[in-house]
Amino acid sequence: MSDQSEDGDECIFCQIAKDKIDGYKLHEDDKTVAFLDLNPISKGHTLVVPKEHVKDIHDAKGMSYMWDVIVKVSNSIKEAYNPAGIKITQNNGEAAGQEMFHLHFHITPVYDGTEIEENYSREELEQAEEVLEKIKEKMDEEEMEEIYG
Ligand code: AMP
Ligand code: ZN
Repeated sequence: MSDQSEDGDECIFCQIAKDKIDGYKLHEDDKTVAFLDLNPISKGHTLVVPKEHVKDIHDAKGMSYMWDVIVKVSNSIKEAYNPAGIKITQNNGEAAGQEMFHLHFHITPVYDGTEIEENYSREELEQAEEVLEKIKEKMDEEEMEEIYG
């Protein structure tokens, strides 16, 4: 999807951040939002995005605040589903597989007995409410407040 204006007016992730369209949000603070990927690679596949519209990593100077959220969401997924591993990926440019031109980090659990190739066949998001609640339960909102005030 590359028909998004520079200021993010048409951008789906901006619209999710602004609650103009629904997203399965499992974390939100003044600068970031994390929500379930609509076509997950595996159960718990989550995207972490800044609320500010930036296209990719090349425009992301000064956004180190993203890191604490990525760590927190990763820990919550690990506690919720105990995957064998977790991949953090982030694509920049069509050639690298970027489809949504609003900076985002994929947090993708990898489960035991799942071949990586098999793992990469995408499904429609299923049991979203259940997945959301299970991960959210593990989010320590007090700790988040300590970080973001
Ligand atoms: P990328 O290829 O790195 O740009 O990844 C874009 C991701 O956004 C894909 O994993 C899509 O499944 C996901 N995606 C697209 N639209 C939505 C949406 N409305 N809500 C949640 N995830 C989405
Ligand atoms: Zn945007």
